[in-house]
Amino acid sequence: MTVIEAGNPKSEDQDVTDYSQRFKSLATNVVHAGAPHPRVEGAVVSPIFQSANFLMAEEAAYDEVRYLRLSNSPTHLTLQTRLATIESGEAALVTASGMAAISSTVLSLVAKGDHLLAQKTLYGGTQSLFDEDLPRFGISHSAIDLAAPETWAAALRPETRLMYVESISNPLMEVGDLRAAVEFAQAHHLVTVIDSTFATPVNFRPIEIGIDVVVHSATKYLNGHSDIVAGAVIGSAERVGKIRHWMLHAGGSADPHACFLFERGLKTLVLRVERQNKNAQKLAEFLAARPEVRAVNYPGLADDPGHGYAKSLFSGFGGMLSFYAADAAAAERFLGRVRIPIHAASLGGPETLVVRPARSSHLGQSPEERERLRITDDLVRVSVGIEEIDELIADFGQALGS
Ligand SMILES: *Cc1c(COP(=O)(O)O)cnc(C)c1O
Repeated sequence: MTVIEAGNPKSEDQDVTDYSQRFKSLATNVVHAGAPHPRVEGAVVSPIFQSANFLMAEEAAYDEVRYLRLSNSPTHLTLQTRLATIESGEAALVTASGMAAISSTVLSLVAKGDHLLAQKTLYGGTQSLFDEDLPRFGISHSAIDLAAPETWAAALRPETRLMYVESISNPLMEVGDLRAAVEFAQAHHLVTVIDSTFATPVNFRPIEIGIDVVVHSATKYLNGHSDIVAGAVIGSAERVGKIRHWMLHAGGSADPHACFLFERGLKTLVLRVERQNKNAQKLAEFLAARPEVRAVNYPGLADDPGHGYAKSLFSGFGGMLSFYAADAAAAERFLGRVRIPIHAASLGGPETLVVRPARSSHLGQSPEERERLRITDDLVRVSVGIEEIDELIADFGQALGS
């Protein structure tokens, strides 16, 4: 690190920091990949770079000017190497939110007149982007059932360009035939985009099975502490470059303080998710055996419809599950009685959260539509945290009891 005493020295006088370090294993990479080399003033932890702009250094292109909106502060560069590495991708982009990642990805990969295939139950924000916003730009989509590959060809049009899926869907935790999706997309020259927020790279790395672009709401597991909103995009350098171009114009760059917390949270991703996988499996098995519970949705249960695909694709089944209580009143009573879980939306933090999707994420839909989607008033979604599982199970037990 050069101490600048006066003036504006040219780039050859400035030390060049390297953000390209990558290691072999995921657990090492979540801690170290992309860390600045040499370290800033020797600091073990990268500081918060609360500076909108940086010294000019003979940049060859506008993109190389160092300015916060251009997503290139030292923490952005560290995070981008780290995210690319842990998702087995070439390049990554950190964004201001999961929706900034999703909207920038879709809007930069399709154009007016194009058509998309999209999984039938999507995250609410994505669904309304596809239903309400994209049609105004002349971009349409058809819903497909990921568990029924034989139905996809009928939805295809000459102008179909992209296939959009989720690794585990909300709130029923459905896992589809993602290998068939990759094969179908390659045969029909479609770009594949997956929202892998629920699976996390600890359990599943979609690029390794041939998916083109991975998006995340880093607000959830990647940061993992329920204290920031952020997003990520991972893919080939060429595609991420295109997405970055759009994202810079849409102004969806992540703020430096959020980047600092994101990097800090990401370091414990493997520890947290491995614990959440174990806790969720035990809780799902407990709930499935309780007489007050009609059914449990969790891909780690042997009789779950998505279990076969999940087993062949994932190394863990994740921390998200949902279950049907006896009726809506029983579900409401359960939410009022639990003492450890917090009754709140969102997911992926250290604390267990419980919510009724019909009263939160799917409140905007009609009761008939919710019935059709099996998102009924008695459904409770659980984001399983890292607490002591026996204590958590005892609390669920007393809250379910009549
Ligand atoms: C929360 C979430 C999003 C949106 O992310 P934000 O960070 O809130 O913008 C997208 N997809 C999934 C699966 C999510 O859970």
